[in-house]
Amino acid sequence: MDDRVACTMVDFMQMKAFAESPLVLTEGRGIRVRDVGGRWYVDGLSGTFCAGLGHGNAGLAEAGAAQLGRLAMACPTLATNDRALELVDVLLGLLPDRYSVIKLLSGGSEATESAMKIARQFHKQTGQAGKFKILSHYRSYHGGTGHAVAASGWPAWRAPYEPLAGGFIHLHTPDPFRPPFDGPPWAMTPEAVGAAYLRLVEETIELEDPRTIAALITEPVFTSAGVVVPPAGYLAGLRELCDRHGILLIFDEIITAFGRVGAMFAAELFGVWPDILCLGKGMSGGYAPLSAVVISRTIADAFWGEPHDLIQFHSGHTYGSNPVACAIGLAAVGQIRAGRLDERAQALGDRLQAGLRNLQAGVPGIGDVRGRGLLVGVELVADPATRERFPAALEVGLRVRDVARREGLLLRASHWMIVLAPPLTIAEGEVDEVLDIVGRALDEVLVGATGAATSVG
Ligand code: PLP
Repeated sequence: MDDRVACTMVDFMQMKAFAESPLVLTEGRGIRVRDVGGRWYVDGLSGTFCAGLGHGNAGLAEAGAAQLGRLAMACPTLATNDRALELVDVLLGLLPDRYSVIKLLSGGSEATESAMKIARQFHKQTGQAGKFKILSHYRSYHGGTGHAVAASGWPAWRAPYEPLAGGFIHLHTPDPFRPPFDGPPWAMTPEAVGAAYLRLVEETIELEDPRTIAALITEPVFTSAGVVVPPAGYLAGLRELCDRHGILLIFDEIITAFGRVGAMFAAELFGVWPDILCLGKGMSGGYAPLSAVVISRTIADAFWGEPHDLIQFHSGHTYGSNPVACAIGLAAVGQIRAGRLDERAQALGDRLQAGLRNLQAGVPGIGDVRGRGLLVGVELVADPATRERFPAALEVGLRVRDVARREGLLLRASHWMIVLAPPLTIAEGEVDEVLDIVGRALDEVLVGATGAATSVG
């Protein structure tokens, strides 16, 4: 083993376990990445949901190289740059007219963090200083920085850093696979589940006092919660509640935008537009750190004034609007549009989901296959009839991940889920290759685990 691996802290993972079975990547081509030992894997997760345009993409590399030789850095506190202006123009052209200003940043957490700050500052500058609370969902993920962690909703990612910033209130994840009431899960239609969760949101707003609530931030598809697609009407219901109570609606589309869910934006897919839209990951195809906060005209107007008014946004980051990142972003968005990769993600995502559902018929333990476009999750259950999960100690999802890696596929897993989000450029035959490996991995792990689960239970 390379001793340096133990000196590198990888995200979220236990270093000891990683050092015992490290993955050190050296190059990538198309949907595949190669490790230091020369083994190739299908990148079933597109980096982390960002390399939608595949690896070794010459157009993106050239766009970056050309800009590096032209202007690599423009001081973000004194200037903007031509590439940033072009990118803002392209993005606004893709979005409805209600948006007028974009803040370019370098990571998803910077975007969500800034969105929440903008929401609070907006209310302070429009005579509603009492509005400061932020609503978000349990099991969501909005990033690793202070407010982003406070808004995120998995205890394991929050507890080590408590006490977190105050004023963050959590709502229940609107999970149609796991309705909130007793009784057989299929007894409630998804619409009834959505309506039930909306009633809880409404009650929370009333109990917290809407005059104290600045914003509600939500992923339109809850990836970290287990690729939970909210029931029909849920997002529209949030929009209505926010409008009624003067609460700004923020969509965290760090994962879902730029074709991933079969549309350029999940907002477009669900027909619900927020007041503030956070973009990242796929915007640069993963070739540069790049993110954006898209702000509605009404909000932006509250930040326009004289220097002595002190109503400008008092925050920023060194790599915000970076010209190299913006040049790559322009090339990436151009490729997504020219290749109609949103439509492609829809078609190939349907193929992936259909293939996984076929597996469901033959492999015990596949409880649910869900997602949109090429963002797909498989929930693993010990008993499909009751939807009871496997005991966490069996780590079935993690074992599926490990077998898939052994067989040449990288995917994301928790003990009860596996998640697939391959590059949007994946070919039909490659989808089938992914399905073949996933099928074998599920078979190897679940056939044993369902027996073990029965004996444990
Ligand atoms: N929001 C969502 C939905 C994410 O999945 C992530 C990262 O995975 C973030 C925000 C934070 O983005 P970053 O890791 O680029 O800071």
